[in-house]
Amino acid sequence: MPITFERKLTSTPTSPERRAEILAKPAFGSVFTDHMAVIDYTEEKGWHNARIEPYGPLSLDPAAAVLHYGQEIFEGLKAYKNEDGVVGLFRPEANAERMRRSADRLVMADLPVETFVQAVKELVDVESDWIPTGDGESLYLRPFMIATEAFLGIRPSKSYTFCVIASPAGNYFGGELRPVKIWVEREYARAGRGGTGSAKCGGNYASSLKPQILAAQRGCDQVVYLDPLNDNAIEELGGMNVFLVVDGDTVVTPALSGSILEGVTRSSVLTLAREKGLKVEERTVTLDEWKRLSAEGRLSEVFACGTAAVITPIGAIYDGDEVIGDPEAPTGPVTSDLRTTLLGLQTGVVEDTHGWVTRVK
Ligand SMILES: *Cc1c(COP(=O)(O)O)cnc(C)c1O
Repeated sequence: MPITFERKLTSTPTSPERRAEILAKPAFGSVFTDHMAVIDYTEEKGWHNARIEPYGPLSLDPAAAVLHYGQEIFEGLKAYKNEDGVVGLFRPEANAERMRRSADRLVMADLPVETFVQAVKELVDVESDWIPTGDGESLYLRPFMIATEAFLGIRPSKSYTFCVIASPAGNYFGGELRPVKIWVEREYARAGRGGTGSAKCGGNYASSLKPQILAAQRGCDQVVYLDPLNDNAIEELGGMNVFLVVDGDTVVTPALSGSILEGVTRSSVLTLAREKGLKVEERTVTLDEWKRLSAEGRLSEVFACGTAAVITPIGAIYDGDEVIGDPEAPTGPVTSDLRTTLLGLQTGVVEDTHGWVTRVK
């Protein structure tokens, strides 16, 4: 059953001039639109009080569970507006289903897929003037859920708030596809066996900040995590899944291990690669195999993928002093073809034969 969102619109909206200024040069995640979607949950009432309200601070009891034990999960997806003004969301049901799985792992309230999608659509509908329309530009949506019960005992909270905020997003790389440099992380883990790696929760990111800073100090853009308990199997980057193109025609990505986050982009890339006639393998890839393939000249391309940057070529990985790959490598044909198709689908330029785009208006 759809729930009804009450619309309490702001009396002080951003002026069209100021908005035009922001949209002319959208940054990532630093400017937010005028409204947010909010739904509350209690055990007695279930999900209730759904509303679109002016964007602003949330009021929380200092004892709220999220502030102490980290019961927080989130999602990330994008709304695109095409040349005809049609607004579409890319696979919002996949994000909604993943949020349900994350909620299950952190014992948080189960938000129906339909309600999640409805909240996102309602917000995008109200904020459709905030969607930038330049090449690769979009409105980035950040749904998240926090535990709000004021209680310091160790058990799951009995109340939650689900919220969606929106931020105009530019082309991640300002149009230029630049290969990124990746630090091979041998000391820190993003997630461990049996942990929360396959849930999209804030805690995973808190623990990834330190290795990310250290990697940046070493001149790298991102970190690739390994599973030391599994022969240094490649896991993923801090917020993107990783793919290898072997012998020019085989696309390989680490199999979901329980500590890898299952990206919507990852799953879309797997589908598109199969349709393009590429061989597709989801399996264990160890760091040794990566090095061997590279030494044998069989590692044609490497790329990372996720909602924010879509598909990003990886130039080289840095394992201590050892450099594997070429930091200046031009973007390979498979990477660029998959990227063009995926972006085309998202922006409505390529025909959507999978039913991946949900139209908002
Ligand atoms: C969100 C995320 C990804 C990418 O998922 P998409 O659904 O493709 O955006 C990959 N790894 C981690 C750790 C993530 O949090």
